[in-house]
Amino acid sequence: MNAAERFNLVREVQLAGSCSHPIRLSGEMVNIATGEVGISSLRIACKDRRHVICPSCSYTYKADAWILVSSGLVGGKGIPTSVINHPRLFVTLTAPSFGPVHTIRSAGGCVTFQSQQLDDRFSGVLCAHGRALACPSFHRKGDARLGHPLCFECFAYEDAVLWNAHASLLWNNTMQMIRRSLAEAGGMTKDNLKKVAQVHYLKVAEMQRRGLVHLHVIFRVDGPDSIENDPPPWLSSKLLSMAIRDSIARASALGKEGQTFRWGTVLDIQDLGGTLDDSGKVPSYVAKYATKTTDGTRDLARRFHSRRQIVALVDDPHARTLALTSWDLEQRAALEHLHLRNHAHNFGFTGQLITKSRSYSTTFGVLRKARAEYMSVRNEGDPVEGTFRYEGRGYDDPRGTDLAEVFFTMKRELREESAEARRSGSLQELEASS
Ligand SMILES: [Zn+2]
Ligand SMILES: [Zn+2]
Ligand SMILES: [Zn+2]
Repeated sequence: MNAAERFNLVREVQLAGSCSHPIRLSGEMVNIATGEVGISSLRIACKDRRHVICPSCSYTYKADAWILVSSGLVGGKGIPTSVINHPRLFVTLTAPSFGPVHTIRSAGGCVTFQSQQLDDRFSGVLCAHGRALACPSFHRKGDARLGHPLCFECFAYEDAVLWNAHASLLWNNTMQMIRRSLAEAGGMTKDNLKKVAQVHYLKVAEMQRRGLVHLHVIFRVDGPDSIENDPPPWLSSKLLSMAIRDSIARASALGKEGQTFRWGTVLDIQDLGGTLDDSGKVPSYVAKYATKTTDGTRDLARRFHSRRQIVALVDDPHARTLALTSWDLEQRAALEHLHLRNHAHNFGFTGQLITKSRSYSTTFGVLRKARAEYMSVRNEGDPVEGTFRYEGRGYDDPRGTDLAEVFFTMKRELREESAEARRSGSLQELEASS
């Protein structure tokens, strides 16, 4: 590679924003100032949210997710800071158990006889397949057994995948129930509730190690019409918390084969109160989940095209069985509408990773547009116009991907260093002035 080629590759990677797998476009471009027509090809960032696919785009996505969550909690990006005084809760909803799995309990141990409710299927210390129904280990964080069933044959794979597939429906039913319950508490109909308050949320789905979806949800109640308005005093965070707890216990979703899907019994409700402190960790928490794949690897980052591909790609036996179960369930006529083959890499979960009610805060679209406008102001040269067509992915020179990662890492380190310098600088100023 000569110096000019090397220079071109560096330039290409920079223009694509250090994206690892940029989208290649080509087309005819007109320079608006000179009228000159030229054939151009360019690479634009892939905008993939997953860290294992593209560290650079995922970093941007994570930052946007942080802003999205944070502005809804404490104001900013068009949201007034007065939302801090509105009822705000951070709630974690879980799936029920489909069989005991290796875990780390708060006391450090794994599955004990006391910790699981044994039913008639189990007569003693062993399951019907001769496997132990308790685990004496104290697992460490990276232990490969974590999330794996104590007995693969006892674990209800079909029920687990179908639960994931109905989680979004269950969520919608729960949300309706919460609104109805609040309306009842205020002595009014659900339609009239809108005239005094609005219930907003942002939720992020997290895939647990056992292969079941967990939902982390931020709830906020505002007054009617505008976010600026306060909700009525009777609609307190305590009442909201009660309505949520009660709705989660009662809500259900019906499957086309007659099954009923419900939430698990583990539920966490955190009142974020009227202070900034308690809401500080929530945006980072949500942003972290937003850039993960199903199991944190590349294998489950994209849709599968065949059953054989699942067998070949997924090494983990639990993850493989979940993906295969999802793939095979599509054959059942009553389940066709769930398109479970398309969601096998998500173990049947059909929903979006991050969803929110419209007025919770700003959108990813608005944040991306603002960034694009900021970048276009910084890019010198004559304005050009034209149409592009999709040409493929990646760099012509495969070293572009490695270079992108090096650039991205450097940029991130520099950004973190200057943030650190700013922090210690303002600390010194504070000390000097006191
Ligand atoms: Zn990218
Ligand atoms: Zn264990
Ligand atoms: Zn068993």
